[in-house]
Amino acid sequence: MRHDDFTPSAPRPGRRRGPGLAAAALAGVCLTASGCAGDGGSGPGAGPATASRSAPSTPSSSPSAAPDPSPSTGPTSSKPLPRGPLTGRTVVIDPGHNPGNRDHTREIGAQVDIGTGRKECDTTGTATDAGYAEARFTLDVSRRLRTLLEEQGARVVLTQDGDRPFGPCVDERARIGNNERADAVVSVHADGSAAGNRGFHVILPAAVKGGGADTAKIVAPSRELGERIAGNFVRATGSAPSNYLGDGTGLDTRDDLGGLNLSTVPKVFVECGNMRDPEDAALLTRGGWRQKAALGIAEGIGSYLKR
Ligand code: ZN
Repeated sequence: MRHDDFTPSAPRPGRRRGPGLAAAALAGVCLTASGCAGDGGSGPGAGPATASRSAPSTPSSSPSAAPDPSPSTGPTSSKPLPRGPLTGRTVVIDPGHNPGNRDHTREIGAQVDIGTGRKECDTTGTATDAGYAEARFTLDVSRRLRTLLEEQGARVVLTQDGDRPFGPCVDERARIGNNERADAVVSVHADGSAAGNRGFHVILPAAVKGGGADTAKIVAPSRELGERIAGNFVRATGSAPSNYLGDGTGLDTRDDLGGLNLSTVPKVFVECGNMRDPEDAALLTRGGWRQKAALGIAEGIGSYLKR
């Protein structure tokens, strides 16, 4: 859903636009041995899980009760990472929402400080008409993404791994990236806009200053990260940039998201598609497509880190 709030997406003409996808696509570099244009349907992989760091947490080896093609997760592993082009780099992946949020509406409704104001701790996220929850989607893509990045040698931390009953709150999600001194942070989402609104977009932090928020140092590198992810996402998934935001660039800039406002390290949100559109939903519910989405994001991150 629209991340920090429940408001359905609406076109916002006049938003700042980036240099466009042509440049972004050119910036990308293929990272994976399987190839940028591979079908990506080779299925899930579960690398050594990087546990979320904060309480409250409930041990669980089965974060999703429902049958789900998502990769399995596991406890924190000390398995050494392979050496690769991303060795020495830290990436924090933030799976948007939490499958348990819907059972903790009081907790996630609590207000937190996002620097420029106050906002709900977290939200439930959206779902397809058939009931596939955004929170399950974000965890699945994030786990696939973790595997791809770890294969390149990156150290990967998830803000939550289905291992806690709700949250974290948006301010804590930002803090995790900051405390890890992440080289890049990506928050994974899918949108909850009107049917007919299709495609992905990447949300970039606006320049904001207030309270604990000061994004001056991350605006430019976050844009670089976002452009590279957008270009690679197009190539890996074949999806078009959003037809309702960003004027065809696949990029949007926002100043109202705590997860971006409070970040001190380069960070973007990726809205992989619109769960409320039947055609997008048909893609988002396919494991093979989610693998392509993870691949596109991983290639964008890799391209950014190796620039
Ligand atoms: Zn969301």
